[in-house]
Amino acid sequence: MDIVTILVLFIVGCFVLMCVVGYRQHKYGTGGKVKMQLKDDDTGRVTRSGIGHSYGSAAVDLCSKLYYSAPTTKISGIQDRIDSINKVINEYQGRMKEADLRTCESYRIRLVSKINDLKRQEEERKRTAEAERQKKLQEQREQNKRIAAERKQKEKEKEQARVEKEKQMSEQKRYIAAQRRLMTDSLRYDVMHRDGFRCVLCGSSPKNDPNIVLHVDHILPLAKGGKTEMSNLRTLCERCNLGKRDKLESGTTVSPDQFVELVKKSESATNAKASSADDSKKLNSVSHMADVLELLKQEGVSFIDKRAAGGALWVIGGHELDDMMAHIKRKGLAFVFSEKGGKATKGQSAWWYKAD
Ligand SMILES: [Zn+2]
Repeated sequence: MDIVTILVLFIVGCFVLMCVVGYRQHKYGTGGKVKMQLKDDDTGRVTRSGIGHSYGSAAVDLCSKLYYSAPTTKISGIQDRIDSINKVINEYQGRMKEADLRTCESYRIRLVSKINDLKRQEEERKRTAEAERQKKLQEQREQNKRIAAERKQKEKEKEQARVEKEKQMSEQKRYIAAQRRLMTDSLRYDVMHRDGFRCVLCGSSPKNDPNIVLHVDHILPLAKGGKTEMSNLRTLCERCNLGKRDKLESGTTVSPDQFVELVKKSESATNAKASSADDSKKLNSVSHMADVLELLKQEGVSFIDKRAAGGALWVIGGHELDDMMAHIKRKGLAFVFSEKGGKATKGQSAWWYKAD
């Protein structure tokens, strides 16, 4: 081999070497400083840059800056960084060495998993909040239910109290009506006769003054449980009676409860008196059966008289006549109550009396 050949080969070798180095420099950017810039799509301004001795190391520098500047909780901010890393990889992946590309991708993967974590946490938070909300809603519903039930119960109690009061009121009314029915003309006469036909308060009498009108008055008013019977009746002149009524009306009302008490009291007092006064009353009874028949007619109570045929006197009715029958009994005629009545009443409830 001569010197010329060796020289030519050397020159060719150098040329090939220079070509290879130039190619590598061109492809990978090796051999000097490479600056990689990221520009904003809208404004075109440089937002971030990476520096290295090759495209790969500049890209790694840029990606690491993007990775470490990513926000920790704001998903949209993290997504921005991922988009930027993608841009870098897409643009330079053909000119990056494998290891640099993997590094850049690992930054991207870490950011993606960060987003996934945040999304999971967000979902977990939402689930917890929803569960909390449902729980509160349920509690509210139960609370409402409880309140509604309490309100209903209160209304029920109120209604019961109202019904009870009404019942007592109507009992009071019935009592008063029954006692009023007992005031017969003959009883009125008996009272006036006993009091000598003069006002027991002021003594005035129609015998002395024809303008005087006498009333028979309940000493204990019916509304307070008083009874229509001799011991609770007295003769008053019109003036005294009206004066008394004014006084009563200006203040003495009684509650249904008090009323029931008063009736009980008055009843036991009457029973005690009745037994001791029984005998003398029997002597006083003149034409009692006639009075009773008169009373029945006045009160519109129907009766069937079978006495002429050797039967009984049947008064048709039930316990609403209790008071009247008690009154008649005190007059000396004891009627017996029969729930099923008799043949004469065709099975209707009735009170019967038969003379001995
Ligand atoms: Zn008087």
